[in-house]
Amino acid sequence: MRTQIVAGNWKMNNTFSEGVDLINELVEKFDAVKEVQLIIAPPFILTNEAAKALKYKTIGLAGQNCSNQSHGAYTGDISASMLKSAGANYVILGHSERRAYYHETDQIINEKIKLGLKNDLIPIICCGEVLKEREENKHFEIVAKQINGMLKEISPEDFINIIIAYEPVWAIGTGKTATPDQAQEIHQFIRETIKNIYDSDIANNLSILYGGSCKPSNAKELFANPDVDGGLIGGASLNADEFIEISKSF
Ligand code: PEP
Repeated sequence: MRTQIVAGNWKMNNTFSEGVDLINELVEKFDAVKEVQLIIAPPFILTNEAAKALKYKTIGLAGQNCSNQSHGAYTGDISASMLKSAGANYVILGHSERRAYYHETDQIINEKIKLGLKNDLIPIICCGEVLKEREENKHFEIVAKQINGMLKEISPEDFINIIIAYEPVWAIGTGKTATPDQAQEIHQFIRETIKNIYDSDIANNLSILYGGSCKPSNAKELFANPDVDGGLIGGASLNADEFIEISKSF
């Protein structure tokens, strides 16, 4: 049985006190959710505050990114070990916004994955095509290239700690969602790609999350697919009720 996961990527939203309020609201309402691994990824300034609030709850805590350097003179960066020491146990890597605005390549993401794993963080690694690539029917090729690049020299023993999120860029924050068939088709393809890199046991145990305008009204039909093991949620994760509602959609 694969782990079903609903992860909330808050991105650069909320002030410190608004973030604390949202964490507390989630902690209060969380008992409603069973058998699903809930994860939140607040901005870095809230990581430690969240870790304290989540201490006796089984909600996971992620960073939204980490540096591809272990430490040193990298102004503004946060290392994997710093994230871990602040209480995070997951890290989102290779989000399309990082790829687009900060020119992160699969090589850079691969370096981050290695540092995340070394510091005992579970990487949630993102892949997905832009609209033009989908329209040109290149999405399989693009996703396979991203996955192979990100997983370079990652051993099977390390890979079993990784979660993959498929996030079509054209669906992120746009209100457009992949249809359940589109999601299933590419999630199945991702599992097949992992089977080819590692083996079928590893592929079958991998949790693959869908991300892109996932909300309470469409989560059920997306999560009903055999290869969709949950969601990486942006906008809707900023509302505790919506986020919890999504996690009840399996
Ligand atoms: C995301 O950026 O990871 C995401 C899925 O965003 P949204 O749900 O807002 O489309």
